[in-house]
Amino acid sequence: MSDCCSVNAKSGSAPAVMACPTNGARSKRVDALTVKSLVRKLPLGMPNTQYYFCDASDCELVYFALDTEAPRFRREDLVVRVGAKETADPIPICYCFGFTRQDIWDEIGSTGKSTVGERIRAEVEAGHCACEVKNPSGKCCLGDVTRAARDGLRVVQDKTF
Ligand SMILES: [Zn+2]
Repeated sequence: MSDCCSVNAKSGSAPAVMACPTNGARSKRVDALTVKSLVRKLPLGMPNTQYYFCDASDCELVYFALDTEAPRFRREDLVVRVGAKETADPIPICYCFGFTRQDIWDEIGSTGKSTVGERIRAEVEAGHCACEVKNPSGKCCLGDVTRAARDGLRVVQDKTF
C-alpha cells in the first residue's frame, strides 16, 4: 500500500498490545489504513495515533487509540460486520473473498471437509488478497478460517454420533 497522501503514525514506540478500555480484552495494534478504510465516516481532525483492535465478542468497541482523546469506533461505525463480534449469521470470516462461517460449515456438511482454507491460500500466494483494507483486524483471515472449519467439523461429528 502506498503512503502517498498520509503521514502514518509512528507505531514503533506504541505497545504491541493494549487492554480494551471497555472490557479489558487484550487488543493488538491495527494499521491506521485499516481503521480509515473500514470506519464509515471518519471524524475530521483525527489525531495521528496508534489504533488497537478489540476482537472480544462481548464488547461493542472495535477500535480505540493509544491517545485516549482520539475517537473510538464501535461496531455500528464500521462498513462491515465484525465476524469476531457476531453471533448471528452471516458471520464473515474471509473479507477478501467473502466466505462466511456458514459457507465453510455448509461445505463440511455436504462433503465432510473444508477446502476454503486452501482456496484462500492460493489466492493469497497469487497476491490477490487485501486484508489490510478489508478485514477489521487488518490481518490475514486464514487462522480464523482454520478455526471455523475445526468448529464445523465438531458440529458435524456431534450430529453423526
Ligand atoms: Zn473491547
